[in-house]
Amino acid sequence: MASLSAQIPPCLALMMAACLMIGINGSIDGAQREFDYFALSLQWPGTICHKTRHCCSSNACCRGSNSPTEFTIHGLWPDYNDGTWPSCCYRSQFDVKEISTLLDALEKYWPSLYCGKSSTCFSGKGLFWAHEWEKHGTCSSPVIRDEYSYFITTLNVYFKYNVTKILNEAGYVPSNSERYPLGGIVSAIENSFRATPEVICSKEAVEEIRLCFFKDFKPRNCLASKTSCPKYVSLPAYVSMGREASESEMA
Ligand code: AMP
Repeated sequence: MASLSAQIPPCLALMMAACLMIGINGSIDGAQREFDYFALSLQWPGTICHKTRHCCSSNACCRGSNSPTEFTIHGLWPDYNDGTWPSCCYRSQFDVKEISTLLDALEKYWPSLYCGKSSTCFSGKGLFWAHEWEKHGTCSSPVIRDEYSYFITTLNVYFKYNVTKILNEAGYVPSNSERYPLGGIVSAIENSFRATPEVICSKEAVEEIRLCFFKDFKPRNCLASKTSCPKYVSLPAYVSMGREASESEMA
């Protein structure tokens, strides 16, 4: 009886070998394919902090008068053009020592707005920054290749486009009574940023604004998706939840 390899034409054998190397996500060796663009996801503390029910030291909503009043960073996310995204691309356990020179800036502009620990890709639970680096940062190659570069690049892009200032200058100021047209908010950002952002809402309140970039960090439109926002949205003013307000809950 002829051996199996003798029955398979050489070109088919080559294709079968290639199929074994290519993982279910369509990439060589099971790695996820290279991303298409970046989204800088910014969160609005006025909306998220309204949901705070108890305080803890890790939650920036609990800093009283020092709590954030401007959009803060959620993360820099490598995304695909089809609306999906890669995550947890390789094992790289977050090491806070690598970003020790950035900690003051990260505490201020990239704080956690929650109390619970965040899930990490391979090591269980950790800081919000560990979650963002392991889940998204590791998928930013070849543009960003290490933890320090991920955080410094994100901070620099964030500083370049001040969404809070753009909105304030267009008259969209934090308020617990006003409703603003979603189209007006989007246009204000388009006029300054020269590309269309994505706006995410929690009920009628703006919760996140995402700015999208080509791999060289030139602005590009975010994907035209069904927005989670109604036609008129709010930009809630921050209600400080200081330690003094919640000491009994902390105890
Ligand atoms: P994360 O903090 O990265 O876990 O993201 C929080 C939520 O944002 C997720 O539950 C998703 O709904 C959404 N999300 C996460 N990553 C992306 C991404 N790369 N592009 C768009 N949405 C995302």
